[in-house]
Amino acid sequence: MTLRGRLLLAQAPLALALVLVGVAAVATLARLGRAGQDILQDNYRSVLAMQRVNELLGGMDSAALFIIAGERQRGWEQQAAQRPVLEAELHVQEGNITEPGEFDSTGRLSQAWARYQQEYTAFLEQEGVEAGRERYFAALRPAYQEVKDAAANILNLNQDAMVRKSEALRRQSQRVNTVMVTAVLAAFLAGLFASTSLTHRALRPVSVLSQAVRRLGQGDLEARAVVAGTDEIAQLGRDFNTMAEHLQQYRQSSLGELLQAQAASQAAIDSLPDPVMVFGAGGALLNVNQAAEGVLRLSLETGGEALVRVEPEVRDVLERVRTHVLGGKGAYQPQGYEEAVRVTAPEGDRWLLPRGSPVYGESGEVVGATVILQDVTRLRRFDELKNDLVATVAHEFRTPLTSLRMAIHLCAEGVVGPVTEKQADLLTAAREDCQRLQGIVDDLLDLSRLQSGRLVLDLRRVPAAELVEGALGVHRTAAEERGVRLSQEVSPEAEEVEVDAERMQLVLSNLVGNGIRHTPTGGEVSVRVSREGARVRFEVKDTGEGIPPSEQARIFEKFYRVPGAPSGGAGLGLSIAQEVVQAHGGALGVTSAEGQGSTFGFTVPG
Ligand code: ADP
Repeated sequence: MTLRGRLLLAQAPLALALVLVGVAAVATLARLGRAGQDILQDNYRSVLAMQRVNELLGGMDSAALFIIAGERQRGWEQQAAQRPVLEAELHVQEGNITEPGEFDSTGRLSQAWARYQQEYTAFLEQEGVEAGRERYFAALRPAYQEVKDAAANILNLNQDAMVRKSEALRRQSQRVNTVMVTAVLAAFLAGLFASTSLTHRALRPVSVLSQAVRRLGQGDLEARAVVAGTDEIAQLGRDFNTMAEHLQQYRQSSLGELLQAQAASQAAIDSLPDPVMVFGAGGALLNVNQAAEGVLRLSLETGGEALVRVEPEVRDVLERVRTHVLGGKGAYQPQGYEEAVRVTAPEGDRWLLPRGSPVYGESGEVVGATVILQDVTRLRRFDELKNDLVATVAHEFRTPLTSLRMAIHLCAEGVVGPVTEKQADLLTAAREDCQRLQGIVDDLLDLSRLQSGRLVLDLRRVPAAELVEGALGVHRTAAEERGVRLSQEVSPEAEEVEVDAERMQLVLSNLVGNGIRHTPTGGEVSVRVSREGARVRFEVKDTGEGIPPSEQARIFEKFYRVPGAPSGGAGLGLSIAQEVVQAHGGALGVTSAEGQGSTFGFTVPG
């Protein structure tokens, strides 16, 4: 059955109750109406007839009185007119006997009327007024009274019956009233109950369906609507179940894929030998790989306190990289092996180099940071080995080089015997090369010493002018030979600096030497010292060839030399200078334009 049919059926009991009550009401009202009509028919007609009889009797009596009053003609006519009418009324009464005792009373009335008529006939036949009067009072009047009494008796009988019946009718209608109200109430309640239960039954599937929908909405994909039948709701229930089925399949498949993808990516990062950590946008540790758990003793289970158990040095590095990446500064790339942090492990110390890369959200915002601690233990060891090798080789080269230079010098000067001019030229060239070689060896030694971490600054307060003078003094001869002017300008505000004098002199000397080497004859190399807040700024300016912008960043790299530039050392001078300046908390920088000279500058504590 369709839902519409069921709902209609549910309304049926109420409608049926209404019809039943209506039929009962109509029937009862009809009965009451008939009862009223019966009263009218049964009694009221008798009452009317008796009243008419009374009146007519009065007319007959007054006719008799006319006669005895001498108005014989008038009396005659009057009584003759009354009599048939009265007869007719009596007939009416005889045909309308309804009450117990009325039959007898009517019989008595008929008899009395018959007697009265006899008496009246006898009275009318009486001659003379006097005799008539006697007759009237003697016989007619009593007969008249008898008829009147009989009529009054019937009247009373009927009036009493009327009162009784109307009382009974009133009581009946009261009863009917009560019965009707009760019936209406009962029908209403029964109809309502039946309608409600039928409607409830008809709509029960809707609540089953709505419960299922609610459960599904709350994420319970197992929810199904069990609705039997073929109506619209059952159809809806089946459609809902199909939808839930599909949804569940979809969820299972996408969840499965997701889990698989997650497992795959976890396996991927676990397979990395280097520790990997993933931080959320708020800085909380979201994921780590097995290497991180093993090497750093990190665990996700410790929640927000995950980093507490990590060694302070490593924690500082991790926090720095995380802050860098989450701060929106892009990926974090280490500057060099020096940034590697040491982690103590049972199988020996490990050196880990931090790298960070941002994790971007859908709209391009940084939602996390991935930090990898690259294990550079081996590379570092190689580096150390290389440094040691370089240091050893350089050191071992130094003494033979010195004696070689001395020997060449002595030969060139003719101390050990005369030399020809050609030989002297060759010896001079050899001496210069020897000198350059010695410079390179010195640079290598300095560099290896700096890089092996053995760079311990010997900080002292020294006059800036002394440093500048020392640096310029070394190159004065070379500058003169080349025709390059040297000048200095030391601000009185920057008289003293707190530096490692020997090393700082090396830096300045390097810069001045470079300046002279790259400046043509007639040029100038000037050193300026000025105060810059709490620090002192050193600047070495030349009027030489300048450095192309594309080369400016690279000239500080080790062994890098600008292609085509006049050969000097091994490309180590600036990187050594940079190391020393950085050890003093500064940074060596350059401003230069091709053909317009270069200015190298740095600051040191003042
Ligand atoms: P080197 O000892 O071989 O000169 P440096 O590290 O001192 O090596 O310098 C690296 C490169 O920078 C040099 O090859 C040179 O081309 C360039 N350079 C350095 N100083 C100057 C300067 N004042 N003017 C122009 N080029 C310079």
